[in-house]
Amino acid sequence: MTDDSFVSIRNLQHYLYCPHRWGLINIDCSWAENYFVTKADLMHQRVHDPDHSYVSSKKRVLTAVPVYNDALGIYGITDCIELVRDAQGAAVEGYPGKYNLTIVEYKPRQPAKSDFNHEDAIQVFAQKICVDSIFKCKSRGVIYYGDTRRRIELPLNENYESYFSELRDLVSQVRDDTIKGIIPPIRKGQKCGGCSFKDMCLPQLSKGGKKQTFLDYLNQAEQAEDTK
Ligand code: SF4
Repeated sequence: MTDDSFVSIRNLQHYLYCPHRWGLINIDCSWAENYFVTKADLMHQRVHDPDHSYVSSKKRVLTAVPVYNDALGIYGITDCIELVRDAQGAAVEGYPGKYNLTIVEYKPRQPAKSDFNHEDAIQVFAQKICVDSIFKCKSRGVIYYGDTRRRIELPLNENYESYFSELRDLVSQVRDDTIKGIIPPIRKGQKCGGCSFKDMCLPQLSKGGKKQTFLDYLNQAEQAEDTK
């Protein structure tokens, strides 16, 4: 695998959220901020600084750890990796003893109807594949939600086979679309609630899977105004 065919986990995260948005960012080189993007950036500032690593009586916490997996061709930076002493655990270069490793991903908001989004679990699973191959371990993964201040354990080891197969297909899809320079169409049923690209992407034009022209959209908006 060549260096330029490696896919970043951030890229996978964008694709999981919305393939069309991934295309706008990576193929069209567009970007747009909104309240949610800024809030997530602020929340990650601390954990994306390796100087914020710390040690307590129970654990050692490493922040902004670069990780990769050569076999799958992915790389990224974890928010945190927690090391807890365990004689049966893995060796970590630079630290004496052996440890159990837990990946911690920070998210601003917990989903309203579930403990975690499936897409977030796949993102952390990609980090796990990297961490496990580097440290020769079987790491765990949790999400910490800023709004509820809760940690949720993800079923990464329990769902290993199905998550791995999904991740492998995803990496291959992102790599193919990157090479071909494709911006994927808007997915049917795509949720656009907090997306910062709404004004640029105008998902209303593809409502119900039907393509509308921009003129159709303007006419509808005009009619809606007239009936007010
Ligand atoms: S507005 Fe919706 S369809 Fe458009 S990029 Fe954002 S999430 Fe995707």
